[in-house]
Amino acid sequence: MVSDMSSAFPLNASVELNNGVLLPLLGLGVYQIPKGLPTEQAVLWALEAGYRHIDTASFYGNEESVGKAIRESGIKREEMFITTKLWPTDFFNAEKAFHKSRERLGLEFIDLYLVHWPSPIARDGAWKALEKLYTEKHIRAIGVSNYSVAQLQTHLKKHEIVPAVNQVEFSPFNYKKELLEFCQAHKIQLEAYSPLTRGKKLDHPALEDLAKRLGKSVAQVMLRWAIQRNVVVLPKSQRKERISENSQIFDFVLSPEEMAILDSLNENYRALFK
Ligand code: NDP
Repeated sequence: MVSDMSSAFPLNASVELNNGVLLPLLGLGVYQIPKGLPTEQAVLWALEAGYRHIDTASFYGNEESVGKAIRESGIKREEMFITTKLWPTDFFNAEKAFHKSRERLGLEFIDLYLVHWPSPIARDGAWKALEKLYTEKHIRAIGVSNYSVAQLQTHLKKHEIVPAVNQVEFSPFNYKKELLEFCQAHKIQLEAYSPLTRGKKLDHPALEDLAKRLGKSVAQVMLRWAIQRNVVVLPKSQRKERISENSQIFDFVLSPEEMAILDSLNENYRALFK
């Protein structure tokens, strides 16, 4: 864990997962970026801007393009952190699906592999396959996505390996405080998807006012709020200037009063289903 969240810290500050692996607090999300040039460019721009963490999934259809950009960048593999995910239709063939993802990415190993949705059918078998792949060192850390407290409780009772990560929708407008506290108590790192509410709440007056006072954008303030809550952020953009903007969240600090303003915005907003 980052020990002092009240001060600014450098780009690529990391959190330590429950198995000792370091996970950068900022990652580029590539959902809905078309495969081919748009994904390749976005990943290259992100790497240029200093990101070292990319979040993709077999479901996104752009793993090959992510892999191509990684190779083109010339950045050492060990300096990067790559996440991909297992889609429920592959739960019965998890091992095979994992290796297909790994091959599409052109990587020897994956840093983080997630069960994408807590679909009940074959979920336990899929996790067992992930445990095997992890034990065989094909994956540095395994985790889940879209799991509630109840689903995590069931998981913890049944399985040996505690997920390193739970990736969920998380923003000031969808502040899952209980889930965050549960994950922190069980050493499961929370990751925020749709941390910018897919752009839908960037015109909120309280945020616009705060951002203006801080000389930052609303997007930067929202991302900063999440990392100060010790949550990894995965903003998606396919525009060079926004990819860079979203990385400039390590040079300012929100005060407890400013954090409280963002805390008060929760309305269980679901960007995913809008
Ligand atoms: P985000 O909250 O990251 O919002 C992305 C949207 O905001 C895009 O329309 C983007 O447009 C716009 N945007 C980005 N930066 C800025 C900015 N600085 N100012 C104004 N607008 C901005 O939503 P996502 O749902 O894409 O979530 C991010 C990532 O989380 C995904 O890419 C994926 O990796 C992951 N995810 C995981 C899920 C899961 O089930 N595990 C589900 C959903 C997402 P533009 O591209 O034009 O800049």
